[in-house]
Amino acid sequence: MQLIDGKLTSKEVRKEIAAEVEAIKAAGGKIPHLAAILVGHDGGSESYVSGKMKACEEVGFKSSLIRYDDDVTEEELLNKVKELNNDQDVDGFIVQLPLPKHIDEEKVNETIDPRKDVDGFHPVNVGRMTIGMPAFISATPQGIMELLKRYKIETSGKHVVVVGRSNIVGRPMSVLLSQKGNPGNATVTVAHSRTANLKELCLSADIIVAAIGSPGFVKGDMVKEGAVVIDVGTTRVPAMDTKSGWRLKGDVLFDEVAPKCSYITPVPGGVGPMTITSLIINTLKSAKKEIYS
Ligand code: NAP
Repeated sequence: MQLIDGKLTSKEVRKEIAAEVEAIKAAGGKIPHLAAILVGHDGGSESYVSGKMKACEEVGFKSSLIRYDDDVTEEELLNKVKELNNDQDVDGFIVQLPLPKHIDEEKVNETIDPRKDVDGFHPVNVGRMTIGMPAFISATPQGIMELLKRYKIETSGKHVVVVGRSNIVGRPMSVLLSQKGNPGNATVTVAHSRTANLKELCLSADIIVAAIGSPGFVKGDMVKEGAVVIDVGTTRVPAMDTKSGWRLKGDVLFDEVAPKCSYITPVPGGVGPMTITSLIINTLKSAKKEIYS
């Protein structure tokens, strides 16, 4: 069994990007610039955005944080989005979710110029990804694809069972792995809460992607010998022995499943660390006009 080390891979990717930024600087080019809009003071959102800003600093990007209080109007927010759409210096930007209830998230998302949508949530990018056109791909699925690529995990002709069909993880994963390409060319089954024979399906899988949000859901008797298991789940469970009083648990019962696997991602330290790095990858792609010329 080999661990897929997302922390290490993330460090490597950031190093490569930092070197590229140095080269852009040396050639007198424009430094990539990521902007983030943060509404309110939710602890989770604060820490995600701060991680994104720190990652920019680490690779040498320019970053801007635009903050609003919870009572910002939808119109004010949409005007800022439009301003960023037209700001020539900004290569990409994100609006940190969730937004307060009085703001229509879909409307905000659809107002973002798809050419600057480095989160890859705009329907144009989702549509382009689905038909195999160049697109910004949302962070978690892109991070998983990068891990599969870097660990040279064969997906062609394999049976992948993706458990979960959310718009941010399960569904895009199933699209990406079934597309022509490498990684890709897999035969994909998408499972969800109405799937009848999940255990049998998982037992027939060469690769399982678990994106459910139910700690320890995938057990040892659901996984065949030699399978690759990608655990996307991150649920905070109470823990007396940690400073914070909680610890992150994946969707896979690691101790039972790991001995059967050829490769497995741990939680924490697997898929998670690649998520912010994927946003950095997308911002660089935007600056280099790799997706939209
Ligand atoms: P979500 O929107 O809640 O979707 C969960 C999916 O799991 C749904 O499609 C649901 O089916 C399915 N499901 C629930 N119970 C099931 C069961 N008993 N059997 C089979 N399928 C079941 O969650 P998400 O946003 O995709 O996130 C999933 C997990 O990944 C969460 O723990 C989240 O925190 C984590 N996550 C981690 C990262 C990271 O960077 N590491 C990023 C994003 C998400 P239905 O559609 O039928 O309801």
